[in-house]
Amino acid sequence: MTGQEIEKLIQLLAKLPGLGPRSARRAALHLMKRRESLLSPLAQAMTDAAAAIRECGECGNLDTRDPCAICADARRDPSLLCVVEEVADLWAIERTGAYRGRYHVLGGTLSALDGRGPNELRIDSLVARARAGGIAEVILALSATVEGQTTAHYVTDALHDSGVRVSRLAHGVPVGGELDYLDDGTIAAALKARTPV
Ligand SMILES: [Zn+2]
Repeated sequence: MTGQEIEKLIQLLAKLPGLGPRSARRAALHLMKRRESLLSPLAQAMTDAAAAIRECGECGNLDTRDPCAICADARRDPSLLCVVEEVADLWAIERTGAYRGRYHVLGGTLSALDGRGPNELRIDSLVARARAGGIAEVILALSATVEGQTTAHYVTDALHDSGVRVSRLAHGVPVGGELDYLDDGTIAAALKARTPV
């Protein structure tokens, strides 16, 4: 029906979260009608981003530099470490402006179903950071899902003899709730009222 360049564009757009084949076609048409004002600048921005993006060797955050802007920011409290599943969760907490410590991105949760064990997550480097000293408290900001809580237990055990205090987000995170979907006020309240593990 259409040229292969257009078909490829639609196929790739359909892989984006929240876009199925139908909305991918609509998005492709939208871009094609705005070749100069949107499609070309978007293509350039994607090329630039693909070349510039780095994974922070310290915390696992995505940025254009390593260490990332958060790890490199001397004004942040180095004694606080917030453990999150994904970069999206880090962004959700940053949006609230309620947290001034640093982060550690695990890269997911433990999941037997998806074949993700401790070695697939950044747990060893978390323990290494905690043992290196200078960190007083590790805040577990993991989802209130079964996988999230299983991961929280595992991480708590792994940190047991590191000498750091371990706490977790308080009430306000609904059971089954993923952090990224919560509103800023709820995240800020859960951070403030965190409880020791
Ligand atoms: Zn970092």
